[in-house]
Amino acid sequence: MTATIIDGKAAAAGVRARVAEIAADFAKRTGRQPGLATVLVGEDPASAVYVRSKGKATSEAGMASFSHKLPDTTSEAELLALVDQLNRDDAVDGILVQLPLPPQIDASRVIAEIDPAKDVDGFHPVNAGRLATGLEALVPCTPYGCLYLLKQQLGSLAGREAVVIGRSNIVGKPMALLLIGESATVTVAHSRTKDLPDVVRRADIVVAAVGRPEMVKGDWIKPGAVVIDVGINRIPTDDGKSRLVGDVDFAGASENAAAITPVPGGVGPMTIAMLLRNTVVAAHRRAAMPDPEGV
Ligand code: NDP
Repeated sequence: MTATIIDGKAAAAGVRARVAEIAADFAKRTGRQPGLATVLVGEDPASAVYVRSKGKATSEAGMASFSHKLPDTTSEAELLALVDQLNRDDAVDGILVQLPLPPQIDASRVIAEIDPAKDVDGFHPVNAGRLATGLEALVPCTPYGCLYLLKQQLGSLAGREAVVIGRSNIVGKPMALLLIGESATVTVAHSRTKDLPDVVRRADIVVAAVGRPEMVKGDWIKPGAVVIDVGINRIPTDDGKSRLVGDVDFAGASENAAAITPVPGGVGPMTIAMLLRNTVVAAHRRAAMPDPEGV
C-alpha cells in the first residue's frame, strides 16, 4: 500500500479562509475585529519566527494583532503585570505567551494568570480541566489540528484503536482526551512504555508526539492505519546543512499506512490555523454569541 499524503497546508488554508469569513462577520456585527495579543520575552530566534508568523497570519485573517516584545531580563512580576493588562483589555480576545520563557520566569505561574476565556493556547489549568471533564473549553492548537486532520481523513473515529505516543500537557494528553471525546479506544505511550512497537502495531490511528527523529519505524504501522506525525526535528545532512524530519520514518511508514502527514507540511500549518480559530471562538464566547460554525 502506498499512503495518501495528508496535505496539512491545504487543510490549514481552508480553516484560515473560514476564520477570515467569521472574523469579518464578527467585525460587522460588533464594530470591532477579534484581537490576538502575542507576548515574546527574549531573543530566541525560533520563538521570534513563530511569533512573527502568528502575527502575520492574524492580520491576514482580518483580525487585530497586538505584539509585545520584552527583553530577556524581564522579571516574572513585569510579565504578570502585562498579562493582567491584556486580561483587562477589551480589544484582546486571545493572549499567547510564547514558550519557552527565560529561567527567572515560572511559565506555569504566567499561564495560570491568563484569563481562561482568553487562553487561546488552551494551556490554562481551567481549560485543561474543562477538556478533561467534557465541558466547553479552549483546546490546545496542535492536538486540535491533529483531530481535524483525522476527522477529515476518517470521518467518525468511534471505536477505532488510537495510540498516542507522548504524554505532554501541550500535545499528548489533550490529544488523548480529544480522541476519547470522539469515542476512540485510546492508549497513551511514553518513555516507560514496554514493547512500544507492539503497542503501535495494534493502532488504527497513530499520533506521534515525541521529539525523536524517525523513531517510529515503518514495520510498526498496521496496514491501513492513519499516521499523524507531530514531531519537528532538525537533523544534519551530508552537505553540512540540515533538514526537518518528524518522529516517524516517513518512507517506511508510507508503505503500510493508508494516510500519513508529512514533515514539514502536515501538522505544523494546522497549529497556527487552530490558533486563529481559537481566537475567533474566544471572541464569540466573550461577546456571548454562539460559537461560529465550520471550524
Ligand atoms: P515533550 O518533550 O514535552 O514530550 C515528549 C513525550 O515523548 C514525553 O511524554 C516522553 O515520555 C515521550 N517520549 C520520549 N522518548 C520516548 C520514547 N523513546 N518512547 C516513547 N515515548 C517517548 O514534547 P512535546 O509534546 O512538547 O512535543 C513533541 C514533539 O512535537 C516535538 O518534536 C515538538 O517539536 C513537536 N511539536 C510540534 C508542534 C507543531 O506545531 N507541529 C507543536 C508542539 C510540539 P515521558 O513523559 O515518559 O518523558
